[in-house]
Amino acid sequence: MTTQPEATMSLQNLMSTKAHAFATAEHGAYIDGLEIDAGNSVIETLDPATGRSITTVAESDAGTVDRAVRSASRAFQGEWGSMVPSRREDLLHRFADLIEANSQELAQYDALEGGKPVSHVESVDLPLAVEQFRYYAGWPTKIVGATVPVSTPDSHVYTRKTPMGVVAAITPWNFPLCQAAIKLAPALAAGNTVVLKPSELTSLSSLRLAQLATEAGLPDGTVNVVTGTGAMTGAELVSHDLVRKISFTGSEAVGRHLGAEAGRSLKHISLELGGKNPHIIFADADIAKAAAYAATTAYFYSGQVCFSGSRLMVERSILDEVIAAVQEHAKALVIGHGLDRASTMGPLSSESHRNKVERYLETVSGSGATVAFGGSRPVGAGEGYFLEPTAVVGPADADPIVAEEIFGPVLTIQPFTDVDELVARANGGKYGLTAGIWTNDVRKAHNLSHRLQAGTVWVNTYADYNAAAPFGGVKNSGLGKDCGPDGLEKFMESQTVWMSLA
Ligand code: NAD
Repeated sequence: MTTQPEATMSLQNLMSTKAHAFATAEHGAYIDGLEIDAGNSVIETLDPATGRSITTVAESDAGTVDRAVRSASRAFQGEWGSMVPSRREDLLHRFADLIEANSQELAQYDALEGGKPVSHVESVDLPLAVEQFRYYAGWPTKIVGATVPVSTPDSHVYTRKTPMGVVAAITPWNFPLCQAAIKLAPALAAGNTVVLKPSELTSLSSLRLAQLATEAGLPDGTVNVVTGTGAMTGAELVSHDLVRKISFTGSEAVGRHLGAEAGRSLKHISLELGGKNPHIIFADADIAKAAAYAATTAYFYSGQVCFSGSRLMVERSILDEVIAAVQEHAKALVIGHGLDRASTMGPLSSESHRNKVERYLETVSGSGATVAFGGSRPVGAGEGYFLEPTAVVGPADADPIVAEEIFGPVLTIQPFTDVDELVARANGGKYGLTAGIWTNDVRKAHNLSHRLQAGTVWVNTYADYNAAAPFGGVKNSGLGKDCGPDGLEKFMESQTVWMSLA
């Protein structure tokens, strides 16, 4: 592992002139096709790689949220809601083209605010976001109901799929642009309008995305953005009477809270929550490839990924070999500012988040587990919220470091010997988002995939993601799926029409 010296270059030198100007401007909310002042309070945003201030964004207040929801409601009652499907398709394609054309600029915002290596944002996040819009742009002309063969004479019965209305889309800080796309593309394809509330740590790409929606020709009010904290702006949004659907990606704790709110106000809700994902390597696998994937998925974006393969389970006979190989990959990482193209691993998202991850590491001492490598703040990285890639070997299943989602560059490595015991342990956690299996035995791969409680199982690969393939967890990892037809379905109602032919 190498550490880049603390970024001495100014943001001006690390960013394009256009991106720097947008990033350092003070921002309000984006409503009805315009950015507006959004209340009296602001939130200072920080560069997590240096701890320095970037700019301020509005803490959108109740009045601003109401204005955004009413704007979305008008667009739903008006031009967007009555637009023919083929025209919706055209506009979504145009939106995708504009995101692609501006992807280098958009990538800089997530690299800056999120601390993500800009090359990763360009090669992973942006293509995924564009793909969401292209995939769902194909749907509006293909959404169909059914003719229902009821056992009632002289009746013609059919169903129609209809949009829900105003969608509140609430996103986390780890994939700001991508998560916005994952919500906006299907919600818009189904004919809804949206008020998007990004994380207060990462507002820039969402605000710019809303500008691009307007530029693409989406009617004013179809896509609105309210910046601000969850406690204030988010709470006002989800409790607004005109919001019909809450689409949330974030932590389990907030997901539970919003689930209760949706129950109170009888709104639709879908929840994409956390994970602590078993990543399993058998002795008969391609061990070198499996270990490379294990390290990549554990440390990609400093482990701040819901489907990070953060719980490595290794057949005992190859344990030492795998630990050594993972460590070699960790050593090759270059820690530095996200906007520095040499960096392959950035900081954690905030000081308080790094403190939380370090508190988990403190629980290792005296637990019987050992820190195989890492565990400290890298020397020479400056004031940013960096942490070394870390591996903890041999923790018990009940230890907090295994049982809870840490969301940092901390990989736990545990041996196993028996497949039944492995299944029980892998399924013993509270989450069920993803799992990975490495084996060259195809029967074992299928059998184990079916026995694991996980929304997605990857075999001899990890972290593949495509707009066509449903993604979402079971158990405490959430309710509902993103992507594919399932991702569209959750933004639609079904209406049944009975007609007498007597
Ligand atoms: P978080 O739950 O703290 O915040 C998520 C969003 O909810 C933010 O925009 C926040 O401002 C908002 N929010 C917070 N309190 C709210 C309230 N009372 N009312 C309305 N909105 C509120 O999560 P985070 O720290 O931003 O993100 C990390 C979490 O997201 C991790 O648990 C990660 O696993 C999860 N995640 C899941 C997926 C997935 O697809 N399953 C993808 C990415 C991230």
